Amino acid sequence: MTFGTFPPIDLRSDTITQPDDAMRSAMARAEVGDNVIDTDPTIRELEDRAADVLATASALWTPSGTMANLIALSVHLRRGDRFLATRGAHVLTNELGSAAWLAGGMPEPLEHDAGPGRPTPATVRAAAGTRSGPYYVLRTTLLCLENTHNAAGGAITPPDEHAQLVAAARDVGLNVHLDGARLWNAAAALGLPPAALTVGVDTVSACFSKGLGAPVGSVVAGSAEFVDEARRVRQMLGGGVRQGGVLAAACLVALDRVGELTEDHEKATTLATGLAELGWSVSKPQTNIVLAAVPDVRLTLESLRELGVLALPMAGKVRFVLHRDVTGEDVDEALRRIKEGGR
Ligand SMILES: *Cc1c(COP(=O)(O)O)cnc(C)c1O
Repeated sequence: MTFGTFPPIDLRSDTITQPDDAMRSAMARAEVGDNVIDTDPTIRELEDRAADVLATASALWTPSGTMANLIALSVHLRRGDRFLATRGAHVLTNELGSAAWLAGGMPEPLEHDAGPGRPTPATVRAAAGTRSGPYYVLRTTLLCLENTHNAAGGAITPPDEHAQLVAAARDVGLNVHLDGARLWNAAAALGLPPAALTVGVDTVSACFSKGLGAPVGSVVAGSAEFVDEARRVRQMLGGGVRQGGVLAAACLVALDRVGELTEDHEKATTLATGLAELGWSVSKPQTNIVLAAVPDVRLTLESLRELGVLALPMAGKVRFVLHRDVTGEDVDEALRRIKEGGR
């Protein structure tokens, strides 16, 4: 049986979410200026609010999360500096090597020995080595954390472990960048303000174009001095936009929707439970991502597509992402299609 003629249920990513009417009308009404020459009032408003929510002194709007991370790494790293990041981190595997190619960093992956998405403080200390070694020793200067961790299935680093990792990094003289593209999901799932998960970091990036539904936009945040430098790097990378307020207006609407992400987490739990009942090997989702271990990822994705369920490969598994543009009924329907298709 094939469901190929039905509209597919698209669980490839939460980035496919469409700006809704409220968001589009906010975009249409946005007050704008030239954000390269001086300032755009709506971008300014978003940056102020984001800095506030993330508990940093300042924040900078960027077109994408990838650019936000690249800007942070470019400011933190000197050419040849080594940086530590969890194995499978977005900065290591999903940004086309820009951390090395453009920011000049030597990547060192850390194992997730504290649990999915996070190393132990001891691993951070050991990987950092010593700064007092002889002149020919590689310099390690930065720890990149990721919360939630995408490739680990939207895994959360809780605030106490976050604090211990930051403390370990400090002890061994590392700066800390947090890739918080999905930080909103972690905050919503824990019922905490996002600022509870940025404690002690030097810089943090966060995306509005994932589960929060904005079409475009991220921020990178830190000290005022960091943001001054980050603004120059953004301009260098071609990320200076003029009347960007139309985009920032969507991000402002998105920021009001952090609490709604728990609905996506519930849908993920429903999907994971249903798949497990059908005999799939899935881990219990902590947020909106469900990873399924299958013998042949390509074949499974193909047969899912034929059944009218779209997913993507991630970390050698099949990844389903729940988002605001799929309903609870869509999840039930996806499970029904998979069940019937499996017969
Ligand atoms: C999506 C994502 C990014 C990059 O964001 P883009 O806006 O797609 O460039 C960075 N880090 C993590 C963890 C992500 O999930």
